[in-house]
Amino acid sequence: MKLLKYLAAILFILFILVNVLTRLPIVQDRIMMTALNNAVNATAELPDNALSALVCGSGPPLTSPGAAQSCILIKAGDEYFIVDIGDGASANLMNWGIDVQKVKAVFLTHLHSDHIADLAELHLMNWVTASRQSKLKVYGPEGVSNVTEGFEATYALDYKFRNEHHGNEIAPIEVAGFDPYTINLDEPVIYNKNDLKVTAFEVEHDPVPAVGFKFDYKGRSIVISGDTKYSQKVIDGAKNADVLFHENQANHILEMMNKPLMNAGRPQAATVMKDIVTYHTTPTEAADIANKANVDHLVFYHHVPYPRISIMERVHLRGVNEVRSKDKWTFSKDGTLIVLPLNSNEIKITSIN
Ligand SMILES: [Zn+2]
Ligand SMILES: [Zn+2]
Repeated sequence: MKLLKYLAAILFILFILVNVLTRLPIVQDRIMMTALNNAVNATAELPDNALSALVCGSGPPLTSPGAAQSCILIKAGDEYFIVDIGDGASANLMNWGIDVQKVKAVFLTHLHSDHIADLAELHLMNWVTASRQSKLKVYGPEGVSNVTEGFEATYALDYKFRNEHHGNEIAPIEVAGFDPYTINLDEPVIYNKNDLKVTAFEVEHDPVPAVGFKFDYKGRSIVISGDTKYSQKVIDGAKNADVLFHENQANHILEMMNKPLMNAGRPQAATVMKDIVTYHTTPTEAADIANKANVDHLVFYHHVPYPRISIMERVHLRGVNEVRSKDKWTFSKDGTLIVLPLNSNEIKITSIN
């Protein structure tokens, strides 16, 4: 009992001491310097001897707390590439300490807002203080140059102001902006450099022109579906890949949302829920696609609607285990990291958070 009293007294004195000390500028400055040193040196280590994919946005078009809109970062060797850059994705990359100055190109699956919204933020982080020798390369379907020109027009003054303020060394005006490349599916290999081959294939997201991408690097492969309804084209495009990232929409939950929306006096929102049923893939359909494509592992991403609680996640994924064995798929979150080491069949699934 006596010992406990002594302990309580010591703890109380320590508490007071910490409280007093952390109010002294000299102590605050020491703590700040340590924190700042850690912050500027904090870079997330993704391996060089692998093909890796980091989910920088697992969420739906209607944003959800904790989930950015669509984004996958690919790392092949020591180079980074971005597939789609929805709202919140750039902040994720920065918060995780990803060196976005190493991003060589952006690949857009299609031009819906939840896949392009953060392009300007990514551009800024990849431009100021970066050693980029040219404008940021952006590959996408028909219309991609409208998007990049639109961003350039909106940010023209920002480019000018930053260049005038920081100078050409830090913010070189001649490489501010984008270099768009319109994907022509008659020539599906859109990138082939330093052992990385990127192949585009058509998917079905009518009325939106949309593609998926296959990344091949030194014997390992990752396929990303983009937005699509159930499609044989994805099965063909993903054939025998190591990992398939597939979008997923739980239509049974959208149906459940109809009544609450109508009761809440929101008939237009209820109509939107009905409209989107036709151009996405359900979780069980995605599992079926992964089986037919003979891929080793399926990663669900771009979850519509985004499950906010674990019971909703269970309802969302109802029936998936009956189609595909439990150890053959992953329901990704922002930060899910897939690493495919070279010269191996291994698939490492972790999280950067
Ligand atoms: Zn989408
Ligand atoms: Zn879409």
